[in-house]
Amino acid sequence: MNELDRPTNFIKHIIEEDIKTGKHDKIVTRFPPEPNGYLHIGHAKSICLNFGIAKEFENAKCNLRFDDTNPVKENVDYVKAIQDDIKWLGFDWENRLYFASDYYQKLYEYAVDLIKQGKAYVCSLNADQMREYRGTLTEPGRESPDCNNSIEMNLELFEKMKNGEFAEGEKVLRAKIDMASPNINMRDPVIYRIKHAHHHRTGRDWLIFPMYDFTHCLSDMLEGITHSLCTLEFEDHRPLYDWYLDNLNTPCHPRQIEFARLNLTYTVLSKRKLLELVEEKFVDSWDDPRMPTLRGMRRRGYPAVAIRKFCDLIGLTKKDSCIDVALLENCVREELNETSLRRMAVLDPIKVVITNYPENEVEYLEASNHPKQPEMGKRKIPFAREIYIERDDFMEEPPKKFYRLAPGAEVRLRYGYVIKCEKVIKDSMTGKVTELHCSYDKDTKGGVTPEGKKKVKGIIHWVAINHCQRANSIKLYDRLFTVPFPTQDKDIDYKTHINPNSLSVINNAKLEINLSNAEVGDCFQFERLGYFVVTANNNGYLEFNRTISLRDSWAKV
Ligand code: ATP
Ligand code: MG
Repeated sequence: MNELDRPTNFIKHIIEEDIKTGKHDKIVTRFPPEPNGYLHIGHAKSICLNFGIAKEFENAKCNLRFDDTNPVKENVDYVKAIQDDIKWLGFDWENRLYFASDYYQKLYEYAVDLIKQGKAYVCSLNADQMREYRGTLTEPGRESPDCNNSIEMNLELFEKMKNGEFAEGEKVLRAKIDMASPNINMRDPVIYRIKHAHHHRTGRDWLIFPMYDFTHCLSDMLEGITHSLCTLEFEDHRPLYDWYLDNLNTPCHPRQIEFARLNLTYTVLSKRKLLELVEEKFVDSWDDPRMPTLRGMRRRGYPAVAIRKFCDLIGLTKKDSCIDVALLENCVREELNETSLRRMAVLDPIKVVITNYPENEVEYLEASNHPKQPEMGKRKIPFAREIYIERDDFMEEPPKKFYRLAPGAEVRLRYGYVIKCEKVIKDSMTGKVTELHCSYDKDTKGGVTPEGKKKVKGIIHWVAINHCQRANSIKLYDRLFTVPFPTQDKDIDYKTHINPNSLSVINNAKLEINLSNAEVGDCFQFERLGYFVVTANNNGYLEFNRTISLRDSWAKV
């Protein structure tokens, strides 16, 4: 899919209509992360949507707004990391960076306005009582004993809340709406709570903090957001979003539109669970390449453009669903297939001696860097009498359709010669194959099959023993969970589904010499093995991550 030619969706239709009818001549969206964790692939869907609209429509902008109203769980490291991840993903908020905490004074004034209108009151019920008074889905709630207190009293109590004269939990400010509403969100929701905590931006200036629903609609309004796009779980909050705006004197009324959040198979996306995986050491960190975080994917070698294409591909609906993670993996594969240079590497080497090849000779075979993209150039690969091949490209007793190396069988070395296995050398103690003796046919160089000779079906990769580079570590990653829906069964801890083989480390891989000066971040296709990204290269100390295998090995499972 061409990125310039992005698919349409129901939200874009609404926006197009609003432009056509003249309701708006300028569109403003926002991405509102809470700085209490790192961004994951679900957030990417929302980022691509909101910033994507700003890119596609003329006169459209997207704000980055930190929804920082919970001082206890938030911090500046997350604020920085989130900005870094959005930039990496390919989006820019220009000078449109905002913080809900910047609006605390204004939000406070709006709350006072509600009190003065008799539409908000300070309530002394504790958390348990509040729950009890709230009622249930089938039963209406009961009014708080404080709901008819005078405006003067409420103003005074709210002022005291602000000045830190009450303990946490002792009082809250609530909107006076309807305790019998079938929508529980409308049963006198809390507007402000007391927290005697240090906020990462306002320090100890504020000891009361506005709740999400109150903050969000008013922040949207203050920034002149036209379309406030959020996930489906906020559908039931929309009446409250509208109530605050309807009951306060505001210059505009943004429209909240909900869409289905992204769920992915073999993946958990709740920040709480991701934090748990880090804290309980199932993964190394938030940027562990097995994590569905943007930092994890970046370290794993996923290109940002592949994630953007994935977000386009899954589209936007009003119905919850779970996307097959294979779709994301395929986007990554397709992108890397286009852009990665080809190289040869042997992960599990076994020595091969080509007994009829001259002893001290080295020749340089020509190889293409990309079979379909000649402009990516060519390279030379040294070939000599002793080479490594992949251990599992040899079988002593091969099944019928095994076209690789076996006693007496022939195989082609990629870019090189056809060799024939003449002798198998084993360790006398263990019986393990330690070396293969082969002969080569000098007329078959570079893919040539001389007339009268049969074509060899198998082609294997290799590197020359005295002309290769060791990889100190290659990390092979697999899916973090063994089942597609790890959180489906509420009675089973999702962590019991963790894949014990999600990481394996290879320390003795042999690389084509051309990889010795690869730079951190470079991506390669190791032929027949997959896509690999360089994670370290310090004076010959080389590390790689496998980003993704060549084929979906889970498809058969
Ligand atoms: P929390 O449970 O901490 O609120 P959150 O995932 O909602 O977690 P936010 O930082 O509030 O985290 O999310 C920022 C924005 O990203 C929100 O607008 C939210 O709707 C959107 N978002 C979060 N998760 C997904 C998802 N899985 N799919 C699509 N959008 C998402
Ligand atoms: Mg949220």
